[in-house]
Amino acid sequence: MKAIIRTSFERDGFRYGDKAVPEIGENDVLLKVMSVGLCGSDMHALDGHSDSLPIGCTPGHEMAGVIAQVGENVKRWKVGDRVAADSAGYVCGTCQACIQGNYAQCKELQGMGYGLDGGFAQYVRIPGDVLLPYPSVLVPIPDNISFDEACTIDPAANGYYAIVQEAKLMPGQTVAVVGAGPLGLAAIQAAKLVSARKILVLVRKSTKQMHRDAAIQYGATDILETDGDVDLRQFVAQMTDGVGLDLIVDTAGPHSLYELYFDLLKKGGDIVKVGYGFEPHGAPLNNIMFRSQRILGHMGYNPTSWHYVLKLMEAGMIDQQSMITHVLPLSDFFKGVELMRNRDCIKVVFHPNDEE
Ligand SMILES: [Zn+2]
Ligand SMILES: [Zn+2]
Repeated sequence: MKAIIRTSFERDGFRYGDKAVPEIGENDVLLKVMSVGLCGSDMHALDGHSDSLPIGCTPGHEMAGVIAQVGENVKRWKVGDRVAADSAGYVCGTCQACIQGNYAQCKELQGMGYGLDGGFAQYVRIPGDVLLPYPSVLVPIPDNISFDEACTIDPAANGYYAIVQEAKLMPGQTVAVVGAGPLGLAAIQAAKLVSARKILVLVRKSTKQMHRDAAIQYGATDILETDGDVDLRQFVAQMTDGVGLDLIVDTAGPHSLYELYFDLLKKGGDIVKVGYGFEPHGAPLNNIMFRSQRILGHMGYNPTSWHYVLKLMEAGMIDQQSMITHVLPLSDFFKGVELMRNRDCIKVVFHPNDEE
């Protein structure tokens, strides 16, 4: 089969080439990948910043497709089922996090496309190691949801998890979403669904018009630049009657902006940190203490987020289709990578089986 294969830990240490179709064990499922999304976290590895995926392995964790083969013990799924796959590939099933159903925090977690072979391939093995303790990592896709949309449940569930489950944003509250990529847009959609009164989106001067338009389409009430001319502290004070924002969801990750975020946040307000950053942070720790503000950690989603996001997509209340700006054959993988590097896309989706 064709697949993207890691060749080194350097920048662009990947190639498009041939690889054996995975063999499956008695509890495994073989997925024929119809659509697989390129994610910001894949870019960490492509940029040479992450070595969690071993050499010879295949990246990719936002996958949807058709079940091509099932192990002899597998009764729950059958060949031909349309499914989307969560990114978990191995969990221990017995640690404290696993017992509480919070397998994203499993101390032995290995992700599809992180520690294990992932979905930038024509076929991928979904291990029984995760299917036995957590069958919900593989979800059936309703007929009215395409494979392209289904492979973006991952980022949609991420935004839902941050806004609804972690921050518990209430109707009428105010939120700033930092970043207008797929995770930012997912957070905007979720904030709109819970009837946030104001959804301020913070971008950079360099943010492309396509991302700004999408933010507005998904429900942003204002878009401002963190490196622009508008005084954000004054703007937010006016917007919130001097109270400050109830919530900030940071999907972009620049640590240098944390001092600003806490100034924009109300007393007792929360920041959910979704994005990954590299610089030292500027969080004013004593102010945070006096003002009872919190930074909430964030890791992906859980089965609850997947369940409700899928229901909302089925009901037409979450729109993932319009953030898919490019659909490419897997042989054009590096074209997709360049689109991401130049921010000339929102979501890039590959079709590994179009080139058979
Ligand atoms: Zn992702
Ligand atoms: Zn565990």
